[in-house]
Amino acid sequence: MPREPRSANQLDPAEEAALLETIDRWLQNDVAPHALELEHADAYPETMVEQMKKLGLFGATIPQRYGGLGLPILTYTRIVSKVCEVWMSLSGIFNSHLIVAAMIERDGTEQQKERFLPRMASGEMRAALALTEPDAGTDLQGIRMRAVRDGGEYVIHGTKTWISNGIHGHCAALLVRTDPEAQPPRRGMSMFIAEKGEGFVVSRKLEKLGYKGIDSAELSFDGYRVPAENLIGGVEGRGFHNAVGGLELGRINVASRSVGVARAALMQALQYAQQRRTFGKPICEHQAIQLKLAEMATRVEAAQALVERAAEAYDAGRRCDMEAGMAKYFASEAAMENSAESLRIHGAYGYSKEFPVERLYRDAPLLCIGEGTNEMQRIIISRQLVERNPA
Ligand SMILES: Cc1cc2nc3c(=O)[nH]c(=O)nc-3n(C[C@H](O)[C@H](O)[C@H](O)COP(=O)(O)OP(=O)(O)OC[C@H]3O[C@@H](n4cnc5c(N)ncnc54)[C@H](O)[C@@H]3O)c2cc1C
Repeated sequence: MPREPRSANQLDPAEEAALLETIDRWLQNDVAPHALELEHADAYPETMVEQMKKLGLFGATIPQRYGGLGLPILTYTRIVSKVCEVWMSLSGIFNSHLIVAAMIERDGTEQQKERFLPRMASGEMRAALALTEPDAGTDLQGIRMRAVRDGGEYVIHGTKTWISNGIHGHCAALLVRTDPEAQPPRRGMSMFIAEKGEGFVVSRKLEKLGYKGIDSAELSFDGYRVPAENLIGGVEGRGFHNAVGGLELGRINVASRSVGVARAALMQALQYAQQRRTFGKPICEHQAIQLKLAEMATRVEAAQALVERAAEAYDAGRRCDMEAGMAKYFASEAAMENSAESLRIHGAYGYSKEFPVERLYRDAPLLCIGEGTNEMQRIIISRQLVERNPA
C-alpha cells in the first residue's frame, strides 16, 4: 500500500526513553498486581482503560493536530511489546481502535478526520474493527453484510463476529457490500464508521481460551441506519482497500504483541530456572534447560529485529506487507514456542493458575490467527518474493 511517510518518523531517544519509563511505571504499579485476577474473572479492566486514556494510548499514533501523541510506529511497537509483557489483552483495547484511526487518517475525508479523530484520540470514542463474519474470515471477499442507500443514509443488515471491543467500544468500522453484483467482489465493498444506536445490537459475548478481559462479540445489524457521510472517503467501492491498508499496521501490532509475550515467557523461565533446584543445582545449570533458554532468547531478539524492520518501513511510507507479514509470522510462532517452553521449564507450576505462564500459553495462539492467519502470512510473503524478484 503506498502511504505518505509519517511526519514524525523518529522520536528523540531521550523523549522515547521517558515515555517508555512512564508506561513501565504504570504497568508495574497499576497493571501487574491486578492482571491475573481480572484475566481469570474475564472482567473488563475499566480502571485501566481510564488510566490508558490519561496516558494518551488511545491517541498514540493519531497525529498531534487531531489531539493524538503522533508517535512513530517504531515507538508504538515498543509500547505495545511492553504492555504485552504484562497483559496482552490491554493492547487489544487500543489496537483495532488505532487501526480504524489510521484508516480514517489515510482514507477519510477532511470532515471525517475532524469529526472522529479528536474524540478517538482522547479515548472518549473507542472503535472496533468489524471485518469478520460467521462465514468469512480469511476470505473477506465472501462477506455478506449489505448496505443499501436510502436518501442520505445507508440501511445495513447482517452479522459480524469475533469483534474485539464490540461490547465496550462506541463505534465500529464496518466492512459491507454496497454492490453485491460487483466482480471481483472487493470492488463492491465499502467501509462505514457505525456509531452505536438503534439497530446496532451486541448479540453475544464470545467465550475464549485466552485473551480474556477484552470483549469479543458478535454484532447484529437489522435495519441499522448510518448517515452517508460516515462512508470512509465518501466513495463506494474502497472498503476492501481500506481494510487491507489497515491490516498492515495491524500485523505490525500483532508482531509487537508477540515479542512482548515471547519475552515475558523467557524472563519468567529465566527467573524460575535460577531459583528451582534439582539434583543439587539450579535447573539453569542443566544442559537441557540451557538449550531451551538460549533458543527462547534468540527467538525474542530475531522477532524484535523483524518488528523494527517492518515498523521502519511503515514509518518511511514504504510498502511493507512482506515485512509486516514476516514479522507477524515469525514473532507469533516465537510467542507460541516460548510460552510452551516456559511452561515446561516451570514443571507443575507452569500448569498452575498462580503463575502467569499458563496465561501466556493461552494467549499466544491468538497471535497466529488474528490479523490474518500465519498460513496466509506465508502466502503473502511468498507472493511478494516473486513480485519483487521477477525471473
Ligand atoms: C480473540 C479473537 C479476536 C478477534 N478480533 C477480531 C476483530 O476485532 N475484528 C475482526 O474483524 N475479526 C476478528 N477476529 C477474527 C479473525 O480475524 C479471524 O478469525 C481470522 O481472520 C481467521 O478467519 P476464520 O476464523 O474465519 O478462519 P478461516 O478463514 O475459516 O480459516 C480456517 C483455516 O483455513 C486456513 N485458510 C483459509 N484460507 C486459506 C487459504 N487460501 N490458503 C491456506 N489456508 C487457508 C486458515 O489459515 C485457517 O487455518 C478475531 C478472532 C479471535 C479469535
